[in-house]
Amino acid sequence: MKSNQISRRSFLKGMAAGAVAVGTLGAGSALAEEKKYTPGTYSATVRGMGDVTVTMTFDETSITDVVIDAAGETQGLGDVAAEKLREAIISGQSAEVDAVTGATVTSTAVKEAAGKCIAQAMGVPFAEETAAAAAAPKTKWYDEAYFAKPAPITDISETIDTEVVVVGAGNGGCIAAVSAADLGAKVVWVEKNAGPITWAGEIGAYNSKLMKEKYGIEYTQEELNEIINDICRYGSYEVDQRLVALWVNESGRTMDWFVDKMAAKGINTFIETDMKDTLYMNKVQTHTVYQGEFKELGPNFMGSQVANPLWVEYADEMGVNRLFEHTAMQLVQDESGKVTGIIIKRNADGKFIKVNASKGVILSTGGYGGNPEMMEALNYRDKDVICNNLGCAFAQGDGIKMAMWAGAAIDRNHAGGCAFDRAAINLDHHVGAPYDSALTDIWWPGSQPWLNVNTKGERFANEDLPYDFHINSWLRQPGKFCYQIFDSNYWSDVNAFHTTICSRVVAVPGARNSEVLPGVFPCKSEEEFYNVYMKPALESGKLKQADTIEELAKLLGMDDEAAAACVKSVERYNELCDKGIDEDFGKQKKDMTPVRKAPYYGIAIGEWLLATMNGVRVNRNLQAVNDDDEVIGGLYVVGNDMGGFFNNSYPQMYGGTMQGKTTCFARLAALHAVTGTIEEA
Ligand SMILES: Cc1cc2nc3c(=O)[nH]c(=O)nc-3n(C[C@H](O)[C@H](O)[C@H](O)COP(=O)(O)OP(=O)(O)OC[C@H]3O[C@@H](n4cnc5c(N)ncnc54)[C@H](O)[C@@H]3O)c2cc1C
Repeated sequence: MKSNQISRRSFLKGMAAGAVAVGTLGAGSALAEEKKYTPGTYSATVRGMGDVTVTMTFDETSITDVVIDAAGETQGLGDVAAEKLREAIISGQSAEVDAVTGATVTSTAVKEAAGKCIAQAMGVPFAEETAAAAAAPKTKWYDEAYFAKPAPITDISETIDTEVVVVGAGNGGCIAAVSAADLGAKVVWVEKNAGPITWAGEIGAYNSKLMKEKYGIEYTQEELNEIINDICRYGSYEVDQRLVALWVNESGRTMDWFVDKMAAKGINTFIETDMKDTLYMNKVQTHTVYQGEFKELGPNFMGSQVANPLWVEYADEMGVNRLFEHTAMQLVQDESGKVTGIIIKRNADGKFIKVNASKGVILSTGGYGGNPEMMEALNYRDKDVICNNLGCAFAQGDGIKMAMWAGAAIDRNHAGGCAFDRAAINLDHHVGAPYDSALTDIWWPGSQPWLNVNTKGERFANEDLPYDFHINSWLRQPGKFCYQIFDSNYWSDVNAFHTTICSRVVAVPGARNSEVLPGVFPCKSEEEFYNVYMKPALESGKLKQADTIEELAKLLGMDDEAAAACVKSVERYNELCDKGIDEDFGKQKKDMTPVRKAPYYGIAIGEWLLATMNGVRVNRNLQAVNDDDEVIGGLYVVGNDMGGFFNNSYPQMYGGTMQGKTTCFARLAALHAVTGTIEEA
């Protein structure tokens, strides 16, 4: 664009800013006495959730009164937002006010209606598009100023030539770097921290050699197809089915490589729980399915805590040029758009290094869960409900941004997040941004299907849901969290529930190796359960204990009315438990355990975000593609930076899918970059 040309978006922004300048001249300003309104009362109606009518009164220089009729908006949300907007419009003397979080539709309608009233009072035509631009929610991620491709870094202090560059030393980067080196490529491995990330444990995979030879399990293609379709169904089929099928069908062979590599380092991989143990035993049991393979660890250790340092060891043995404490900044492209390298910054002195990559750059920087602006723009479900994003701090969206700057397309589907329903909230802490993980603790039994009530003391859902669905059920509740209520029969309860995947707190009957992880996972006695989970939560003050439900409700911060409702909810729940059928929400019978034996316990639980799920679009070779599905040559994207695989909710029934597809695709990306095919030689 020529400098004297102005983009449509800049024009609209300018117009909006102009409108703000006029509108914000209020009493007290030197120019405020300038007559700009025809005094009177003006009204405008705009469609929000229902009709929103704004009526504004003006004198010659200012807005003197605002009345908003938002009776058709969501009770407890839109009407509350309307009051905040009314105050903001009067104090700001403008329609250009911040939208109220969680009430974007109402906010947009109020702002547009207010803009129309101002236009009438000023006697100017109301420009729909200008008002729309001004009223549009601020999605900074797509804002040109925020998203603008940065000027190319030119003050390069050093140049390195290599074949493959891998960015990120997390679960994807470790596999990609060692795979590429294993395939004979010259590799530069960039990581902004001093060492690898070691979150995560369970890796999903199907039909590995280990599975067949050691455990005698083999899935038929029909069974694999059922899994493929179920994962797609979780995403309403708004996913790239080619990627889902690729993972389900190819994960076994990539796991073979993983298992062999770990075995050579003396680590024994085993299958923890298998779908055939659980899914087919009890199809309706929502918390049960886990199919995965992961490594044998010491007590309390999870998969990548042991594996990732070993991948670093491998990389060093293979002569990988490991540039840790270096931050990837920008991709380098040739005139055709092909990615030919990357510019990285040495953290120690801020100097820039250009790394030429003749075979490709593989990005695996962990998504954007630590970047509030990207969360706001790309993840509206999670941004308001998260209270802990421990594990996402380094995920600043760098890989996604770099790929976009290079022309790659991203998912626009607000894919939600992969999350645990296990953050214990401080009672005086809010849910939603800014996320302050320090104000929450991990409450592992958060996934146990005990009675849930909201801040009004009311039961509102079937509590026995996979983690993401459980969190979704809180989204419509005031405060977007819930209280979990249980009694002194907690030990027999959790044994009746016997949840699986990583939510389990006792061994899963009939499942292979279910008891193998000691420590924070399966407890063998009530005493152990009390000491591992209950005691620390009681000591931190987040878990409350009381002799009556009413007292407990008040300790949890409920007022008299809510506490009385909570007592009623418990009575009703106990009645349903006695009947043996949940007439209210359809929870399965085995999880209907009454709340009768004092002392009673309660805790506020919220979402703990583990990983974001939408990202850069890729093809079956893990190459980044643009909006027309054309390959951006030389660029591969895996892990949480990669999109297309998930939508709405994480397919929690298939525990280990995140790390499973990260592991598999990191290997396949390395294969393609080095050999030109994803097939093993
Ligand atoms: C507590 C926790 C438990 C989990 N448990 C499981 C589980 O059991 N099973 C499962 O399937 N999934 C699990 N997950 C999710 C899983 O960890 C992720 O999906 C997976 O790690 C993604 O791998 P990745 O390589 O994309 O990102 P990460 O493993 O997060 O690695 C990204 C790396 O990139 C680095 N980086 C970022 N930006 C730059 C830059 N500009 N330059 C250089 N380096 C950069 C980061 O420092 C980081 O080291 C869990 C997540 C958490 C937080």
